[in-house]
Amino acid sequence: MAYATELHPGQSCYVHNAGDQTIVTLASAASGQQQQASTSLATGPWTAPPSFYRTHQGGIIQLATAQGDRYIYIQGTSLQLLAAPPAIADAQAVPFQWVDDPVATPMKPMSSMPPMTPMQPMKPLSMQMGTMQMSMQPMEMRMGDMTLRAESSSHAAASPPSSARRFCSQCGAPVQPSDRFCAACGHALGG
Ligand SMILES: [Zn+2]
Repeated sequence: MAYATELHPGQSCYVHNAGDQTIVTLASAASGQQQQASTSLATGPWTAPPSFYRTHQGGIIQLATAQGDRYIYIQGTSLQLLAAPPAIADAQAVPFQWVDDPVATPMKPMSSMPPMTPMQPMKPLSMQMGTMQMSMQPMEMRMGDMTLRAESSSHAAASPPSSARRFCSQCGAPVQPSDRFCAACGHALGG
């Protein structure tokens, strides 16, 4: 932010206080192009807003500082820091505004970075690459039309073969399903 005034049509003057320095920016719009020149002057900190005066050749900025009044005499594009008011008979007070400084003078704090979006965690049990798809529960792999699958071994061993062996109900000896009599004891097998 700076105090700004238009000293002459097309010629603006911006001034702001930064610590012990007074930064004066002269901006002129000539033939459609904006030209700016900033000058830093050691004036000491201000104690009051500045006053602006217009002169034929430029203007005067009156500053109230802790060390007393200071005057910045503007002639064209040159600035002069004075401890006493320049003897300019036609100096005419001009209004000023509190505006955005046209030049980025003090380092503005970097606009905070957008918050980091956390990485999407990989789905732990499946992944897909093109037409290949893999998942771990159950172990299964698909490539195009082909599917490989490995069931857990405990599941595969759960059911015994259906051709259950038969035993003689009399003596317990193993017998063939086709046997009608037990080969060990001759017991007549049912079924
Ligand atoms: Zn038997």
